[in-house]
Amino acid sequence: MSLGADLTRLVAGLLIGMLLPRIPLLFFTRFIEMERDLAPHPDPIPIGIPLVQRMLLMRRVHGMCWIVAIFPLALGLVILRSSPEPFAMGMVAGVAWFMLSRMIPQDANRGFSILPMSLIQEINNLREPESVCCKEHFLQWEVRAVRCRHCRSVATPQPRPDLGRTRSDGRLMGSLRILLMDGNPVFPVMQDSVVVQGVELLGEVTEEE
Ligand SMILES: [Zn+2]
Repeated sequence: MSLGADLTRLVAGLLIGMLLPRIPLLFFTRFIEMERDLAPHPDPIPIGIPLVQRMLLMRRVHGMCWIVAIFPLALGLVILRSSPEPFAMGMVAGVAWFMLSRMIPQDANRGFSILPMSLIQEINNLREPESVCCKEHFLQWEVRAVRCRHCRSVATPQPRPDLGRTRSDGRLMGSLRILLMDGNPVFPVMQDSVVVQGVELLGEVTEEE
């Protein structure tokens, strides 16, 4: 068989191996009507029970991705045992890529999952904070952080991950973005940002002088 055909089958297998495990993330909450309690994408979501419930649900959806990943991996390995089929090789590599991307944590302190329990706990604690920022205290999760709607003070600098809402940028573009980001937030955590660190460093230098 020609090299071109082998290469096409390898790439096709790779794409399927990468896509299949992410199917629950793409379709589970978005194509059934599950939006009743949450503000439509990309509006901020008020901190409350519906948000915490949705985070717990998304955690389960991420877990489902692992289960779905077993099928292409097992199929690929079974085929590879009998013949070095490029499609199967691609599929196994695609699933391995998915697994690696999930196992390397973004923030080692938080845990390995995209929606770790510690984050859900932190958001849940914000429902009844010990101190309030202003009289009209109303916390909501914006793209970059949890902020008060009125005084704009940051309650936690955690960017918002994908919460399974039907995306405003359309099904196709939305799905593509979810595939690329894997449900992770688009922005880094505010304190980790190079720009923020640079500004802080500059502040320290000026103070010293
Ligand atoms: Zn406030």
